[in-house]
Amino acid sequence: MKQTLLRCPICHKQLYYNQGSYSCGKHHFDSAKEGYVNLCIPPIKGDDHHLVQAREDFFLHNPYEHLMKAILPWISSNDTVLDMGCGIGSYLQYLKANLPSLTTIGFDGSKLAIKKASKSDKMSQYAIGNINSCPIMDHQMDVVLSIFAPYQINEVTRVLKPYGRFICVEPAENHLLELKSVLYPTLRLNKVSEPLNIPFNLIHEEILEFPISCDHSLLMSLFHMTPYAYTTSKEAQQKLSSIKYLNVLASFVLRVYEIKKKE
Ligand SMILES: [Zn+2]
Repeated sequence: MKQTLLRCPICHKQLYYNQGSYSCGKHHFDSAKEGYVNLCIPPIKGDDHHLVQAREDFFLHNPYEHLMKAILPWISSNDTVLDMGCGIGSYLQYLKANLPSLTTIGFDGSKLAIKKASKSDKMSQYAIGNINSCPIMDHQMDVVLSIFAPYQINEVTRVLKPYGRFICVEPAENHLLELKSVLYPTLRLNKVSEPLNIPFNLIHEEILEFPISCDHSLLMSLFHMTPYAYTTSKEAQQKLSSIKYLNVLASFVLRVYEIKKKE
């Protein structure tokens, strides 16, 4: 029996691993052949096949490497890192490749995404889980990542150690402006959220910008990864399909928080 950082989604007790199965003593969850475990009860509707496939195609070329590089200095070599809403695990995989002593763990509501993550990354632990009730033990994480993913702040603080760091990335105002200008007649800038306050100290904030040279296939993968894929008219999609090359600006707000010391 091996202790894990996972908790039972039913009774919230720690899960132990033994011969392909996770158990709290009362509830049992079999590990899938790819290595992940499904701890999402009840199941939720995660990202669909198109979105997961688009992410896989996009990250094959890793156009977001600049972003991954910018996250790296905020992580120490022996940290335990959780990616909440990890998708296909691209960020964890990058971090683990650069800092091999990390303990990396990721969960996502999408079974398809988690299946891909655990197929391509055997060094991290993956689970299907719900951000509203994370399948993670209390106060075990040095770092929680949330990259373009929704999160519940109470769950972030619950799983972080005292002084743990929360690294949060969201699209900045100008993110994918050129792509949007193809799709929509009127351009609206992204709305950026206000920095979090209690219980965090904001220790770093930056706008990170870099161009992505998109050939047609990269452009289409990028498009299908965005919410625009669900809100764009047929005409605009046709317009996009005829574009052979587009230089698109990636623009992110990267914020690093540290849990405040209790008074
Ligand atoms: Zn249980």
